[in-house]
Amino acid sequence: MSRIASVLIPMPLPEAFDYEAPEGMALAPGDQVAVPLGPRLMRGVVAAIRDGHGGNRPLKQVAERLDEPPLPPGALEFVQWAARYSVDAPGQPLAIALRGARAPKPKPVRMLEATGRAPGRTTPARTKVLEAATGPMTAADLARAAGVSAGVVKGLLDEGCLAERLVTEDAAFDPPDLARKGSELNASQAASAGALADMVRAGGFSVALLDGVTGSGKTEVYLEAAAAALAADPEAQVLILLPEIALTQAVIARVTHRFGARPGEWHSDVAPPARRRVWEAVASGTCRIVVGARSALFLPFRKLRLIVVDEEHDSSFKQEDGFIYQGRDLAVARGKIEGAAVVLASATPSLETLRNAEAGRYRWLRLSARHGTARLPDIELIDLKATPPEHGRWLSPPLVAAMAETYGRGEQTLLFLNRRGYAPLVLCRACGERMTAPDTDSWLVEHRYSGRLVCHLTGFSMPKPSACPHCGAKDSLVSIGPGVERVEEEARQLFPQARIAVFSSDTVFDAREARRLVEAMAAGDIDILVATQAAAKGHNFPKLTLVGVVDADLGLRGGDLRAAERTYQLLAQATGRAGRKDRPGRALLQTYAPEHPVMQALKAQDRDAFVEAEMAEREAAGLPPFGRLAAVIASGPDAAQLDAFTQAMAQAAPNTPGVEVYGPADAPLGLVRGRRRKRFLVRADRGVDLSAYMAAWRARVRPPGQIRVAIDIDPYSF
Ligand code: ADP
Repeated sequence: MSRIASVLIPMPLPEAFDYEAPEGMALAPGDQVAVPLGPRLMRGVVAAIRDGHGGNRPLKQVAERLDEPPLPPGALEFVQWAARYSVDAPGQPLAIALRGARAPKPKPVRMLEATGRAPGRTTPARTKVLEAATGPMTAADLARAAGVSAGVVKGLLDEGCLAERLVTEDAAFDPPDLARKGSELNASQAASAGALADMVRAGGFSVALLDGVTGSGKTEVYLEAAAAALAADPEAQVLILLPEIALTQAVIARVTHRFGARPGEWHSDVAPPARRRVWEAVASGTCRIVVGARSALFLPFRKLRLIVVDEEHDSSFKQEDGFIYQGRDLAVARGKIEGAAVVLASATPSLETLRNAEAGRYRWLRLSARHGTARLPDIELIDLKATPPEHGRWLSPPLVAAMAETYGRGEQTLLFLNRRGYAPLVLCRACGERMTAPDTDSWLVEHRYSGRLVCHLTGFSMPKPSACPHCGAKDSLVSIGPGVERVEEEARQLFPQARIAVFSSDTVFDAREARRLVEAMAAGDIDILVATQAAAKGHNFPKLTLVGVVDADLGLRGGDLRAAERTYQLLAQATGRAGRKDRPGRALLQTYAPEHPVMQALKAQDRDAFVEAEMAEREAAGLPPFGRLAAVIASGPDAAQLDAFTQAMAQAAPNTPGVEVYGPADAPLGLVRGRRRKRFLVRADRGVDLSAYMAAWRARVRPPGQIRVAIDIDPYSF
């Protein structure tokens, strides 16, 4: 008999591998180990230990138990649960869970401090530096803070007025200050905060929907729930999830203000050493509050007591490539595993969450008015058939007039268009060719700032050619339709004096730039902000009184099950940015379909009517939240081989009552990077374990080497 460790490896392998634990090596589930895999040593995590024999083949041995924090039991269980739910290899979510553990450790940084020695020669620049040097700072930060050149700092260092010290950023996080008080809450905020605090104090798994109109103070309320969680247990941890990096910045500032300590920050833009620091501090328990994007769910929390999913309806919680998962659903699953409270917050909750609240599975807390004297904006529809923009323009006369009034009053306008770049399509006037990425069915988007044509799907880009690559005609390429850059161009022509900025993932590529723009907007340093959804949700801009939606119909095109729901949510969020302090707000929606139920519901601000109609349609069709959906995308380079395989796959679909399989059909993007794509859609009754069904189906087919099969539970774009 020997001890056998079953080890999960962060790679897309179908299962854990068994290794023999060497004599004298103490191993427990969750431990990080190095194990041989083929010719290499790989990092892995022990999933289980048992006594036994390796079977007929001698087992390889665990090479080393790494001196690294183990994955706590809840994190390990969650990784395995997520893999089963998403019908994917456990190594996929494990790779996300170990992202911080595998990052390099923070390196010591050279910091400067004032020594107290007076400079031999005093200049205004030198005085500024010595005044700015209130604590250890890098030379660059000190020069920036003092507004002087690097040479001034260097001179003071050479003279011994500043001294250098190597500092490694402290791994520990400051503890939250629980004696601090939050804002004075109004009556309905206090009622919701009290209910959440009770729920958190009671301990154990439970879910609440915090359903409050934009600006009603949901953040204030859930921060009180966080305070209750942190006070209930000196080791308790809190996770706050947000759909966008730009939003994490605003919430980090509010958490820091509320608890007098910076929370751990977690998203793709956090530098690897900082990531490592957060990961270790979460594992050791010193980091008690994390604010992050969906992947923060996979952090090694030891005692997670509260998970907040802010803007829970947001489709950015769905991870679409690599390991496919819906962050909101996994948050509820992690809450269940950890015995934690889960708060889903939104002004426009998803139909799934509303259904759970209606059915009594989730506690439902409502905030129906804005805080203080702020009112919801008036929403008007601009019928583009009746008052179209001038030829080649995108802003209609009524919208331009409203912008002029707003600008004249010294207030701000947000122009919302959920389309990056300058133009979504470039077309040859001579031959009709639409420019696409090589071997891909998606249009190239023109970006004027960079002068390139970019495929938003594959990342391919090329300089904009001067002649049509298809027919060779000179100067025949025309830009069709608007993106944010083009709307900005028009706004500049209309208001040449105004301060105008663009906020999209192309202009705001990191958290620092996002923070800078959000602060500039909040401070009133921008008159007109042209933005995609990256800026249109969650933020508070006190002087923003006009929101213009350039193309309200945009999201309604295309055959997505959630098209109406998502359009409603996005536009309610975007228009909800207007008039959040004492000045009344106005929102104008440009549409060709003013009679559409979504536009009518937005105008009447009647969410309940919209939800009721949409629920009835979904129920009649057995679609989520009344049924379940999954998609299969099979892809391969050879069309005939892919056809044969998907036909065989159709034959192999298990016959199960309550499950219907549709397909194979061409996927909406039938060709990506030279790979053909075919799709199945699967609909199931609510009672069916769809993950188990999909796993059983997949086990019946063996795709040939070049074919890949991806399963998407609860698909969003199909
Ligand atoms: P939501 O998350 O529902 O959109 P926020 O929590 O961001 O709302 O609140 C909107 C604005 O109102 C913020 O500027 C916030 O600071 C302010 N606010 C909300 N509640 C209060 C309160 N009780 N006291 C003071 N300010 C509040």
